Amino acid sequence: MLTSYCVDSPELSWAEDGAPHSSQFDDVYFDKESGLEETRFVFIQHNRLIERWKQMDNTAFVIAETGFGTGLNFLCTWQAFVEQAPSDKQLHFISVEKYPLTKAMLAQALRMWPSLQAFSKPLIDAYPEVCHGLHRVELENGRIQLTLWFGEAEAGFAALDADVDAWFLDGFAPSKNPDMWSDSLFHHIRRLSHEGTTCSTFTAAGIVRRGLQQAGFEVKKVKGFGIKRDMTVGVLNQNDQPLTQRMSPGQPWFNLRQNTPAKVSHVLVVGAGLAGANTAYELARQGIKVTVWDKGDHIACGASGNPQGMLYPKLASQDTPVNRFYLAAYLYATRLYAKLDDQGKFWDQCGLIQIPKNPKETERFQVLLNKKLYPDTILQASTDKPGSLFLPLSGWLVLTTLCETLLAHDNITVCLNTELASLTPIEQGGSTVGWTARAHNQDSAFSHVVLCTANDTQQIEAAPDTPAYPIRGQVSFIDTEQAKASCEAVKASVDTIDFDKVLCEFGYVSPSIDQLLHFGSTYDLNDTDDQVREEGHKRNLAILESLLELPEQTFSPQDCGGRVSFRCAVPDYTPIVGPVQSDTEYRDAYAMLSKNAKWQSDKLAEPIKQLYLNIGHGSRGLISTPLSASFIASLILGTPSSLEQDISHKLHPSRFVIRELKRAQASK
Ligand code: SAM
Repeated sequence: MLTSYCVDSPELSWAEDGAPHSSQFDDVYFDKESGLEETRFVFIQHNRLIERWKQMDNTAFVIAETGFGTGLNFLCTWQAFVEQAPSDKQLHFISVEKYPLTKAMLAQALRMWPSLQAFSKPLIDAYPEVCHGLHRVELENGRIQLTLWFGEAEAGFAALDADVDAWFLDGFAPSKNPDMWSDSLFHHIRRLSHEGTTCSTFTAAGIVRRGLQQAGFEVKKVKGFGIKRDMTVGVLNQNDQPLTQRMSPGQPWFNLRQNTPAKVSHVLVVGAGLAGANTAYELARQGIKVTVWDKGDHIACGASGNPQGMLYPKLASQDTPVNRFYLAAYLYATRLYAKLDDQGKFWDQCGLIQIPKNPKETERFQVLLNKKLYPDTILQASTDKPGSLFLPLSGWLVLTTLCETLLAHDNITVCLNTELASLTPIEQGGSTVGWTARAHNQDSAFSHVVLCTANDTQQIEAAPDTPAYPIRGQVSFIDTEQAKASCEAVKASVDTIDFDKVLCEFGYVSPSIDQLLHFGSTYDLNDTDDQVREEGHKRNLAILESLLELPEQTFSPQDCGGRVSFRCAVPDYTPIVGPVQSDTEYRDAYAMLSKNAKWQSDKLAEPIKQLYLNIGHGSRGLISTPLSASFIASLILGTPSSLEQDISHKLHPSRFVIRELKRAQASK
């Protein structure tokens, strides 16, 4: 288990002409005279990429690399792909890096290659926070998908769920970096490859050739670049490993993939809130035609329609898959919002201050800071409020504008006042090839359906039972100008109300928009009242007065406006995202678990074809929905997952059945 999400920095020295050299490994990142040609020769040419791209059937070509370094290989491949591959094809480039360069180092290193500037600039802009874990970066309007693992190569490949077409083996020379070229690395190269997967590397070292041979590759030594004597190329001519080997061992029930992914023609997304809008956007950007149905008369009419939402990531002090999900999702969401709104029209990355609720929390915050679990760019001690935490990447958004912006894509058609009445599978030769969806007494056919229907999911017959449940939330707002004019305590210090960061304690308050200060929210279990209540305002005002350190009853409930909505919560505080499986078939296939919770099986669960859930985001939809949507898109398109494997298992819609079966055994 990790003790910190911080990763080590590379030890670099810079030659006079600007080329980076690793002092740690005493090796170069690239040759400054001929780096570009060498990359093209060793990796592009020797994996026969141009020829293979021109003939490819799949929608995406997948490359995986050991050692991202300065990203030079990636940039050359990206350039070649847009110049040479058919325009409807996508490139997935996966790379691992134990010592990631910072953005500034990357910019400095890439200055050496002016001919790549059109590619290096967007890469530098989109480069993720240097923080342990898997980061998905979308470039070229979604056509180029870069997946970066910051951490040890072996752990990165172990976490991956992908089907790799070509490998760029580019760690420093085995003589200088023997640790990277481990048996385990070669095991994962095999696990993630298929028949016809190729590899190439600048080295001809015996350890590399033998490792690849043991992984099933047919390996050849060929003439190296320039004056270099030789290099290695390989191809996996046959792959007889069972599909279960492709997943982390012992969890076949969390299979996410179909053996043969169905053709994606037209996707129905049900629900136009944050989950639905993000799902539609991710698919649309990747060239897929999407229709969105919502029973409401406007976009984001449920909990996603609150006037102002803030990003409140709960940064935990322990490393668990769920915490890693929220961290990766938070970083992904902040990158997306900055890209969607670089003018600051509906996204304000103003930062968030988390004030401790009690002495125990003060202690926890201290431990978090002292242990340095998170990099400073993500978590700091607040200088405004001593004892509090400061999250500089956080901020607030206008939710409806966000959803409208996501849905304003040429590939998306939004149908409001359209309630899904039924979903029926379209069968052909005994398998599901699509869905007939009924609304307004009319049937429409779709190849895939994603239910982003929050608390309405249980009314959809084709959807599985889940333990998701509604929690009432009332938000309140007051007019700041009125408060300045009429409240003595506010008059005495207008700064109390003119603050510029989101504040969180028992609830939250965001900086004002359009003279309105939004705060809340109530958390009312087993409460179905959809009307704004005075007692709700009272509770929210107590939150506000505590956050702003104002005397009690500075404001009165009569000063407040409000809105009520219902969050869709899940008992394990984790969204439900993934393929839908048949409950009965599932219980039958894994019934043995109720006799023996440690039972091992290699029977892969077969997902009900082309039906997915993306619900249960609770109060954290602004954080969790963009990455969840990217994950759903990867399942539909059959492309590399944007989530670590064990994270995707924690989100899996069938996890409740597995837990129930295992619990049945425990109670016997
Ligand atoms: N492909 C890179 C480029 O285009 O700039 C150059 C890669 S450089 C030759 C090798 C990279 O492997 C370095 O960035 C180094 O930090 C990384 N590396 C070395 N050992 C590693 C390990 N065990 N896990 C992950 N990355 C590692």
